[in-house]
Amino acid sequence: MEPGAFGEALLAWYGDQGRELPWRQTRDPYRIWLSEIMLQQTGVTAVIPYYQRFLERYPTVAALAAAPIEEVVDLWAGLGYYSRARNLHATARQIVARFHGHFPATLEELQSLPGVGRSTAGAIAALAFEKRAPILDGNVRRILCRLFAWQEDPATAVAQRQLWEWADHLTPATRVHDYTQAIMDLGATVCLPRNPRCSDCPVGRFCLAQTLGLEKSLPRRRPTKAVPTEAQVVLILAWGGRILVRRRPLHGLLGGLWEFPGRALVHGQSSAQAVAAELLERGLSGRVQPVGTIRHAYSHFRVQIEIFKVQVEKFEGVAEGGDGEQWLPEQALPEMPLHGAHKKVLGLLLKKSDRSSRKETTIASQD
Ligand code: SF4
Repeated sequence: MEPGAFGEALLAWYGDQGRELPWRQTRDPYRIWLSEIMLQQTGVTAVIPYYQRFLERYPTVAALAAAPIEEVVDLWAGLGYYSRARNLHATARQIVARFHGHFPATLEELQSLPGVGRSTAGAIAALAFEKRAPILDGNVRRILCRLFAWQEDPATAVAQRQLWEWADHLTPATRVHDYTQAIMDLGATVCLPRNPRCSDCPVGRFCLAQTLGLEKSLPRRRPTKAVPTEAQVVLILAWGGRILVRRRPLHGLLGGLWEFPGRALVHGQSSAQAVAAELLERGLSGRVQPVGTIRHAYSHFRVQIEIFKVQVEKFEGVAEGGDGEQWLPEQALPEMPLHGAHKKVLGLLLKKSDRSSRKETTIASQD
């Protein structure tokens, strides 16, 4: 494929139909890096409010580096893939310590930063520094598999090498900033995963998959693996108008995020036994009411959570929460940076208490 003609067709379309996004008008590497990290596993619509909130709170990389990690994790809550928040903070600190507060412009130095892989480094180099550097994110991978009708598994090492070669081949020597935005837009708005809009495609004439009628079946999908489900119980411990929440340890799954106490069911255990074990360990007892069940999916497993509200009546041991735990007024819960599954737990709890308070009001007004 002749890269010049391909680039020209793509750039002409971009000039006409490119998306307006908050990080598009800047060449500031801090803002571009922030948007790229947020966009790694999350769609544009979800990212925009987080991007704006982060910039309001941390207008510079130095401000982000100076913030406590817990605060950064709290601000990230709800965006998912939480290792990104920890990497974000670690990178900001490295930029200040190793690069005197300025982002490096070379691919090698960019890739030495936590959470910055080859594609993200390429995007920062192209978008902030106008350096000729290819990218290969999920959108570009899909476009290339179709343009060149790659019919093998796109995740193998051989495929990766080939795809990087094509990405490099097509990247122009000039207008790299616009080209990079354009190819991202093509993947996000035209060369869609399930239903590519080939009749509106500015590079359709270069596309082998379309010529062969393979555009919907490429890239080849991997057979989906069965995902295990873990059964858990969550306890809404209520004491004098307060609810117990805890912060997860900073390192590990969902590190640093807030949640309600609870535990996974061990083999053969019923949820009632798990609730009893949790209460016993905490040295407290009370009235237990089932609230309902929610399900939540992570990338490698799912959880099914049974929720119980416990009106605590008696502390036999620890009256205060343990390490990282806090008794919060019930009204403060919606503001807490809970992780995704426990946001659902809270949603169900609030829905149920809203219904029961409405019932109480109706009964009271009949008196
Ligand atoms: Fe994608 Fe269709 Fe364009 Fe090919 S012609 S790049 S499959 S949108």
